[in-house]
Amino acid sequence: MGEWIEGEWKWKWKLLWIRELMGRELDQLEDLLSKIQNCCLVAGVKDGWRWKASPNGLYSVNSAYKMMSCVACSLSASRQVEEWSFIWKAPATYKAITTAWKVLKGRVPTCDNLRKRQVIIQDSEELCVFCKGADETIDHLFFECQETEEIWSHILRWVGKQSARHHKAKDHLLAFVNLGNKKDASFLLGVWICTIWCLWKGRNECKFNQGTWSKERMTAEIKIRLWGWRTAFKVSSSPLDFRRWIVAVNLDG
Ligand SMILES: [Zn+2]
Repeated sequence: MGEWIEGEWKWKWKLLWIRELMGRELDQLEDLLSKIQNCCLVAGVKDGWRWKASPNGLYSVNSAYKMMSCVACSLSASRQVEEWSFIWKAPATYKAITTAWKVLKGRVPTCDNLRKRQVIIQDSEELCVFCKGADETIDHLFFECQETEEIWSHILRWVGKQSARHHKAKDHLLAFVNLGNKKDASFLLGVWICTIWCLWKGRNECKFNQGTWSKERMTAEIKIRLWGWRTAFKVSSSPLDFRRWIVAVNLDG
């Protein structure tokens, strides 16, 4: 887990698992690491349970109630001022929006992020699973990689738009949702989130399930998923033939 060097705790987590972690577990790992990153073990001091919401470390219903009230207040306060809060209104599933949110915040557990969290990664696992020619970072994986750039280009042609080439998530998203007029923004936001979500799932499939990378399969999955969201979130009431949808969505039509 970590190690003692000359009586001092060195924070370098060596987390060992009996199998490879899957996508949701990687999110949980990141949450765990963010919680324990400031923990420092002290030699000779016995560990034990402690209730953080009470000064004396003992549980009481009153302290639990106060803690939950504080959490609710801070959550609603942070949501009010959050810069990218509009993405939660997108016609997309909660999981997909959460992934897009983490990409915007630089918090998806890519290799570079895991390293920053002191998780030890083999050199052979550091490469981007799509091109296998560059280190895996958020910018590279989603926006700079030649392979994912081709996915974006295909999806842009599909919605009848030109390139929105940016190598930072926030710039890319803003350029993308502003490609159309105001009424298209919600749809384009859904397309952006769906593409990010499918790329992340594809990355995990390649990394942990020995999946193979196929641009054709990826673009098809994005379109099919968006078709499902279109129905589920009642994005449009106008009937549309599925085969036409797969070929092109003409936002200007
Ligand atoms: Zn790459």
